[in-house]
Formats: sequence, C-alpha cells, structure tokens
Amino acid sequence: MEKELKTIPVVGRFAPTPSGRLHLGNLMCALLAWLSAKAAGGRVLLRIEDLDAARCPFMGENTKYLLDDLDWMGLTFDGEVLWQSERSEIYHTYFEKLEQKGLIYPCYCSRAEVHATTAPHRSDGVPKYDRKCWYRHLAGDPPPVGKKPAYRVRVPDEVFGFTDRLQGAYSENLERDCSDFVVRRSDGIYAYQLAVVVDDALSGVTEIVRGNDLLDSTPRQMFLQKMFGFSHPVYCHIPLLTDAAGRRLSKREGDGCMERVRAAYPDPAPVIGALAAALGLIPSPESVRPVDLIPLFDWGKIPRDAVCLPEGF
Ligand code: GLU
Repeated sequence: MEKELKTIPVVGRFAPTPSGRLHLGNLMCALLAWLSAKAAGGRVLLRIEDLDAARCPFMGENTKYLLDDLDWMGLTFDGEVLWQSERSEIYHTYFEKLEQKGLIYPCYCSRAEVHATTAPHRSDGVPKYDRKCWYRHLAGDPPPVGKKPAYRVRVPDEVFGFTDRLQGAYSENLERDCSDFVVRRSDGIYAYQLAVVVDDALSGVTEIVRGNDLLDSTPRQMFLQKMFGFSHPVYCHIPLLTDAAGRRLSKREGDGCMERVRAAYPDPAPVIGALAAALGLIPSPESVRPVDLIPLFDWGKIPRDAVCLPEGF
C-alpha cells in the first residue's frame, strides 16, 4: 500500500509597517508573498506592524492607504487582519519566558552610547553591543537614577543558519556576529524581533517572504523560535526594488510612491504587469491581475539581486 504523503499547507503572510505611504517595492513584496502561497494552494495573512504608535497611529492615514492600495492591486488576504498594536500582552508573556530562562537583562545605554563603542559593526551597520550592562548587572551595580532601561536578550555562542529559497545559505554566530539584542525598548514597546517571531508562530505561518534587508535578522529570529519551542518557517528574502540609478526606494522619496503611481494609472493591471515583467514572470509588460500570475509563478524565475523599477514609474 502506498504511504500517504503528508504535506503541511502553506501559510504565507505580508507584514507591512505603516510608517509612510507604501511604494511599489512594498507592493512587489506583497505580490510575491501572495503568489508564493497561492501557487502552493495555501493561505496568505495580513499583519499590520503598528507596534510603534508614535510612528504608526492605529488606523492612521498611512494604514488606511495601505489597506486601500492592497485592495486596489487585487490582493485579498485570508482570515482577520492582525494588528500588532493590540498584542502587547501576548508579547509580554513571551518576554517573561525569556526572563524565566535567565536570558534577559536591563540595558541603560542610550543609542548614542551604543553607537559610540569601538566594537565592530554588524552587517546592518549597528555596532555590536559590548555587553556593558550585562557586566554591570553581574557586578550588582545599582541602576542609574531616573533612567528607564531597554531589555536585551543574551545570545549564545552558537551558529544559527538556514537556506534561503532565493539567497541560499546564510548563517551567523549570534555572539560573535550580532551580540545581545533589544527585545523590549525603554518606552515599553516590544521590539520587532520578538513580535515578529511570536506573531508568525501563533498565526501558523510556514513561509516568510520579505525584503532582503531583513536577511540578517533571521538568525536572531531563529534563536527566539528555538527558545520558545516554535518550528522554523521557510524563508525567502527578495531583492529590493531600486530606481533606475540603482538606489533603494524610500518611503520618503517620490519614486514608485503609490500616490504617484495611482494618479498615473487608475487601473492596476499595467502596474502589476510591469512588476511581473521586471520579476521575470512574464516576458514583457502587459496588463495582468495577480490571479493571472498564479499559474506562472515559480521562485526559479525571480532574480536574486536588485530589481529595477520599470520605466515610467
Ligand atoms: N514590517 C516589516 C517592514 O515593513 C517587515 C517585517 C517582516 O516581514 O518580517 O519592513
């Protein structure tokens, strides 16, 4: 008798931070996350990463635009939208798990102090934390008066590695390459690294498609997954969409900004077609809808390196 092959249904997600109006690079990411899950017959979830209420007020203008831009593109998501701003208590429970393992310590260093160290920088440009507060903590020194601490998690001298679907093998020894990182900020807001791990796992996400700029966050997230007993999802870090000069698109600058794109293109079909052609999913730009691309989707066609903004955007 043939053995029944059990496959886990794919659950993807798109997790934007609404700190500005979306640009085409964000929508390219949404499109790829959506296509990858749909082409595998799976589901795709939407999570709004509005942890920082000062930058992303709940249902603020940017969030309203974001939901409308996704809808305009024809990207519909499964299940309820998850709002990180409503999940502090859940993050707290997981923070306590790290505390119970003795992995958390308060850090009183300001950003300027962290940046002033002579420690080598991580690949994302942030200096490796020199563990000053850990040593202070061990020595039993009293906390500085009137200062609220951030909380860092102590990382092990251990390699966390994975094979990214697009970028190949990537690994970091967390102690050597990264050092202890903040999981709760001094203003009480839980850090992205903690929230993203908890949310993806509790939502049953099996596949993470996101920008290449987050590749080096992954070993930190894998460490937290291990600490919480979560399984590791499959990762796919996509190239950034750049302007014609090869510069990364920014939410602050106009290139590829959805406000501009939607003013120029009332119909999304040519916009999606231009992105699909730039990604190699169709030979040349033509009007298409996301659903038309599902049967054409294949990670083998997607470029590893930067994708250039199609002309006219
Ligand atoms: N919220 C992040 C962003 O908008 C993405 C986080 C993730 O996909 O893990 O850049």
